[in-house]
Amino acid sequence: MTSIAFIGLGNMGLPMCHNLIKSGYSVRGFDVSPKACDQAKAYGARVYDAVSEAVKKADVIISMLPSGAIVKDVYLGDDGVLNHARAGVLCIDSSTIAVADARHVSTKAHDAGFMMIDAPVSGGVPGAEAGTLAFMVGGSEPAFEAAKPVLEPMAANIIHAGGNGSGQAAKLCNNMLLAVSMIGTAEAFNLGQALGLDPQVFFDIASNSTGQCWSLNNYCPVPGPVLSSPANRDYQGGFANALMLKDLKLAKGCAEDNSMHTPLGALAANIYDQAVDAGMGHLDFSSIIRYLQAKHQQ
Ligand code: NAD
Repeated sequence: MTSIAFIGLGNMGLPMCHNLIKSGYSVRGFDVSPKACDQAKAYGARVYDAVSEAVKKADVIISMLPSGAIVKDVYLGDDGVLNHARAGVLCIDSSTIAVADARHVSTKAHDAGFMMIDAPVSGGVPGAEAGTLAFMVGGSEPAFEAAKPVLEPMAANIIHAGGNGSGQAAKLCNNMLLAVSMIGTAEAFNLGQALGLDPQVFFDIASNSTGQCWSLNNYCPVPGPVLSSPANRDYQGGFANALMLKDLKLAKGCAEDNSMHTPLGALAANIYDQAVDAGMGHLDFSSIIRYLQAKHQQ
């Protein structure tokens, strides 16, 4: 039976690990949080006290961690993956981190004789639970092919974006576009309402006109027109403003590193930063409409 070491058993990692176990993989888990370890144990994972212990007999290693600094420590540290995993195994980092960090870690992994891909995801916790995540993969063709059967129990879509770092690039560019389109959608609803337009009428027009986009048509930020959108449950659940801010800051850092002028991306980061500062970090990112409304009233 293929044995998978899973490092980072949080909101995303835990249900991903559960889906692997349900598909017949044997999972060797590690997390710095004892509570996360207990939950993974309840799903049938074996849990270990250190990264070195979890990875040493694994055939594949998956990580789902909060930041690039932690990913670097988990792979490159003294107790880390590259010092303790079996030679040649496949490493899959599904955390969302900077492109430069992903390329740095994968270069070190290749130099040490490992295969490695970056495979960040979209779909959030519901997608992780349902096994319907979209994986955006950066790495060589052989590494991508080797990873596919392991990713399948967790995925609805697995897309090869290019060489190492390209998965992160696709994820960050997509989310920068998503944030900009959501702010634009929110501004249009707010201005339309101030000009006397009924939100449902504006939705019916714009969603069939040139203003249509995913943020408007599928994830409408005002309650009513799209029943499944978080606006109809007071912006609970969904993709939190704090996570959107994390991705926007990473995109902004990548733009700066590459001397790219991304003024709307930078402005979106600034607006989400203010919303998080205002205590809205836990709400879905479409709640930015509420933040903008509160600013009008000031
Ligand atoms: P989380 O904070 O719930 O989980 C991260 C886990 O990593 C925690 O359990 C934490 O204890 C553990 N951890 C921290 N340092 C560690 C270390 N040194 N060794 C082992 N474990 C360690 O975060 P999450 O929501 O599961 O997100 C994980 C990654 O997925 C992030 O990079 C995030 O940006 C990305 N992501 C999250 C979502 C989402 O909706 N939550 C969606 C897409 C992508």
